[in-house]
Amino acid sequence: MDSHYRHINSNGLGHNQLCGMRSINLLVVHCSAVRPYQTSSADEINDWHKNRVTHGIHWKGIGYHYVVRRDGSIETGRPLSEPGAHCVGHNKYSIGICYEGGLDNNGDKADTRTPAQKQALRKLLEELHAQFPKALIVGHHDLNPSRPCPVYDVISEYRDLQP
Ligand SMILES: [Zn+2]
Repeated sequence: MDSHYRHINSNGLGHNQLCGMRSINLLVVHCSAVRPYQTSSADEINDWHKNRVTHGIHWKGIGYHYVVRRDGSIETGRPLSEPGAHCVGHNKYSIGICYEGGLDNNGDKADTRTPAQKQALRKLLEELHAQFPKALIVGHHDLNPSRPCPVYDVISEYRDLQP
C-alpha cells in the first residue's frame, strides 16, 4: 500500500467508500495560507477551526476533508459523508482539499507546492475523480473570486480530469 495513504486507511476512509447520502459535484482545492516555516497538519487545522466562531456558532473542527502536506502525505479531516466548512454556499455538494502552503516568507501569495505535494494532489484528485466522475475540480478562488486561494490555476492544471 502506498505510504501516502496511511492516514486515510488508518481512519477507515478508503477512497472507494461511497459518500453516504451526499452527492458530490465539486472538488474544491484550497491552500492553508501558511509560510514556508509554518506547518498546517490536519490536527493543527482542526485546532484552528474548532476555536473559530462565526455568527455566534462554534465550528465543528476542521472544515476540509483532506490535507496534503509538503512531504506529499495526505491526512484526512472531516469524513466525506459530512459536508465541509470551506467554501460558503458550496459546502453541501463538495469535497474540500487543502494543501499546506500558499505564502512565501514575506507572507505574499506564492505557489509553494513541492514536487511531492503536486504529485499527491494529482493522485488524490485522480482517485476522487474516479469515485465522483461528474464533479468539477476547481479552486476556492473560482467559486469566490474575493478569496486569493489557492495559488495556482486548478481548473487548467487538472483539465484532463474534468468531467
Ligand atoms: Zn480556500
